[in-house]
Amino acid sequence: MGRNPFEDPAAASAGADAAAIAASATPAACPLCASTASRMLFHKHGYQFRRCRSCRLVRIHPLPSAEGLARIYEASYAGGAYASFAGATEVRAATARARVAAIRPHIGPGPWLDVGCSTGALLTALGDAGFDAEGIELSAEAVATARARGLAATRISAELFIPERRFACVTAFDLVEHLIDPNEFLTRVRDWLLPGGRLAITVPDIASPVARLMGRHWHYYAPPVHVTYFDRDTIECLLARHGLHTLSISHSPKILTATYVLDQLDILSPAIGRVLSPLRKLLPRGLRDRPLHFPVGEILVVATA
Ligand SMILES: [Zn+2]
Repeated sequence: MGRNPFEDPAAASAGADAAAIAASATPAACPLCASTASRMLFHKHGYQFRRCRSCRLVRIHPLPSAEGLARIYEASYAGGAYASFAGATEVRAATARARVAAIRPHIGPGPWLDVGCSTGALLTALGDAGFDAEGIELSAEAVATARARGLAATRISAELFIPERRFACVTAFDLVEHLIDPNEFLTRVRDWLLPGGRLAITVPDIASPVARLMGRHWHYYAPPVHVTYFDRDTIECLLARHGLHTLSISHSPKILTATYVLDQLDILSPAIGRVLSPLRKLLPRGLRDRPLHFPVGEILVVATA
């Protein structure tokens, strides 16, 4: 399977014994239905992927610590998988415009909050579309870039953020699957919305054709940074637990170039990257670097308070 691109630097030096002891502990109760009964699906990078026997939600075991995740994000922002992601400005702008177009029919007028706004691709697309939008983000570097572009980005975590106003729409893309406790986050977000306000999120869908086709090689099976794995039913149930009624669920294609996809596969799924690497030479340059819609197995969910 190759090495884990998201390995905790501290855990790596602690050795395999510590990981084995953690994995032998009892899996935590399901955050969706509180059941403690789960079934092993497969292993990847030393983590078990377990499905709740009651509600079918999938999570990794053992769960990461908040400190461990913080170390991984710091290391990977600097030089790993996320550095390549943060650099792909054009494809991020195109994805942001597509997401705004997909959500726009569902929302009324009023301010917009983007949680995890990164360097501000979505805030830029929202500003261009005439919305009053602000964002919060943990990375100091990303916030500095967004602010230099004249965007209303604040460096703060969702746990500490206390908004001065309520929002007609809150977006949180590529976020919920990373959370150790998605319930805590959704409780907060529910309070940030105006009556009838909308929450729009993207999550990887484990029942998507690409997830089924790739099995455990699917790039979204990324422990320990991706903790919880949803399908259309489990994400709808989780939102309903927090008084959020799902209005629509649709495929959310990522707009990427073939070169970018091949680079990411080399990092995230080297076995598949090797098989596809001849495409680098076979595809004409114009096609390799043209932005295309890739069905990555992600869904866009819009819910209302
Ligand atoms: Zn459950």
